[in-house]
Amino acid sequence: MSAWLCIACTALSPPHRLSTFDVAPPPPHAPVDPHSYANTQAFRTRHLALDLRVDFEQRVLEGTVELHLQRLDPTAQTLVLDTRDLQIRSVEAGDASALAPTAFVLDPRDPILGSALRIAMPAHADRVRIAYATQPQASGLQWLDPEQTTDKRHPFLYTQSQAIHARSWIPLQDTPQIRATYTAHIRTPPQLLAVMSAENALDAVRNGDYHFHMPQPIPSYLIALAVGDLRFKPMGPRTGIYAEPSAVERAAREFEDTEQMLARCEAIFGPYRWGRYDLLILPASFPYGGMENPRLTFVTPTVIAGDKSLVSLVAHELAHSWSGNLVTNATWNDFWLNEGFTNHLTYRIMEEIYGPDRAAQERALGAHELRETLARLDRDGDKTLTPDLAGRDPDDGVTDVPYERGALFLAYLESKFGRPRFDAFLRGWFDRHAFQSVTTAQFLEELTRELLDKSPDTVTPAQIQAWLHDPHMPADTVWPQSDAFATVDAARAAFLAGANERQQLDTAGWSPRQWQYFLDGMPDDLTAAQMKALDRAFGFSRSGNAVIAARWFRLVARHHYTPAYAAMERHLKTIGRMRLIVPVYRELAATPQGIKLAQRIYREARSGYHPIAQNAIEQVLADGAKSGSG
Ligand SMILES: [Zn+2]
Repeated sequence: MSAWLCIACTALSPPHRLSTFDVAPPPPHAPVDPHSYANTQAFRTRHLALDLRVDFEQRVLEGTVELHLQRLDPTAQTLVLDTRDLQIRSVEAGDASALAPTAFVLDPRDPILGSALRIAMPAHADRVRIAYATQPQASGLQWLDPEQTTDKRHPFLYTQSQAIHARSWIPLQDTPQIRATYTAHIRTPPQLLAVMSAENALDAVRNGDYHFHMPQPIPSYLIALAVGDLRFKPMGPRTGIYAEPSAVERAAREFEDTEQMLARCEAIFGPYRWGRYDLLILPASFPYGGMENPRLTFVTPTVIAGDKSLVSLVAHELAHSWSGNLVTNATWNDFWLNEGFTNHLTYRIMEEIYGPDRAAQERALGAHELRETLARLDRDGDKTLTPDLAGRDPDDGVTDVPYERGALFLAYLESKFGRPRFDAFLRGWFDRHAFQSVTTAQFLEELTRELLDKSPDTVTPAQIQAWLHDPHMPADTVWPQSDAFATVDAARAAFLAGANERQQLDTAGWSPRQWQYFLDGMPDDLTAAQMKALDRAFGFSRSGNAVIAARWFRLVARHHYTPAYAAMERHLKTIGRMRLIVPVYRELAATPQGIKLAQRIYREARSGYHPIAQNAIEQVLADGAKSGSG
């Protein structure tokens, strides 16, 4: 460890007040988090008080955070926090009655984890206040110029803290094992509105000075802020939409079933414990489909298709109010406990609201994507539900595996124990672990106690182990089937046999999922004439549904179908959602001619992408260059 910097440690004036928190040991299951430097065995954050100014000119947040800590180790002299690319200006430590300057040191930067911030803690100190500023390249912030927004009139800022990006805008214990409440005072340009993953005042006066309170304790990756020219429109008693002015009505229509989804979810999985559930529609550069920030899900505008065909994304983010936000993976190695559970709940909600046919289509598409992903992944561990992400960026673990393999595992258990029993088990899991972090070992223990031991001949421990740890999918996987896809298979076969006019193919009334499946199932030897026939008959290059368009442009890239290159380039330059663009870049990067085009488009599009998407695309291009395409 390098030497202490800065001010010499200043003794606090006695008497010290002891912490008013009950000193509780960390949960017995808490494993070491390989993605955090925080010494959580000595201190645990209970509350954060943020005070930040949003500076669009400099592209920085600056101000202070005060951490209220539970001191577990009375002898601890150092508090270790996570940071990445922060300028730390000063640190004070003490207790509720007084704070005084203290010494600190910022370790050298690790490319994945950032820099540990080590703070000298006087005896009994359980509070620190840190004055700091972010850097313009902070990995968890995206600063958008007006022309990158929907309405192109005002700048926009949003945060993306998952997995370990909160540390790029707040110095804190950045591990999902620590939960804290927070307050925030946020100052913005007066014409903009700030919203957070907290209680948002629906009647906030737009004056650039906003106060927030988050009463439920949440892990650091769920702390979220967005600032822009936002309007609010209620959808139901507990649900509403925040969006830029031109998007708010359309979004409210698209997601009008949200209140009903919330009610169904509560009926099956127990009370919604977060007060309101609102959606924030972000500009198109948002790198994900959605981010389940509590009380205020962040959503990509690419799911507003005009026909509710992509609303399963909202069902997914809402379901995180139980799996993930309420019961949280203890480390990013346990990510399937967040995402596999959430996908299982999503399919359940979709079935409840839109019926079994639609749910079956969504499950079948998910399973199809999983098979593609499994075929692509190199490391065996990444094909299991228990990867080891130590030493790697946890964002690398975001593949279809934790989502879809996790959901298939739970669907398998449901098929074995019956839906009523399995629903009750899940509800019990959420109730028993509400506002806690959980591990795969804990899940296994409870599954054994609550279901396996009570019905001993139903599923063997060896079968469970295979689901969790075997890179191959278990032989008794229940692969989802959809009757709606049989029609699609027939139409695709007819097309490949030469029927290439719309009226020759029975595609009337197809859902967007059927169109996706139609395109995904195309063979590798499509000819330019067939690509042309497809686009002429169905106009894929002009599709208003970004998910269908993404599937089409993947084929365009794979088959070097140059007549659609201009449309493909527009798609890559206007959308930042990784799921819709990374597969296209991956196809381009697979050939020498493609990778040159990909590199050129990326150079021009890069500044519009979120840092997380930049990383992912740069990885794809580097892999392509390495494998000889470059
Ligand atoms: Zn999710």
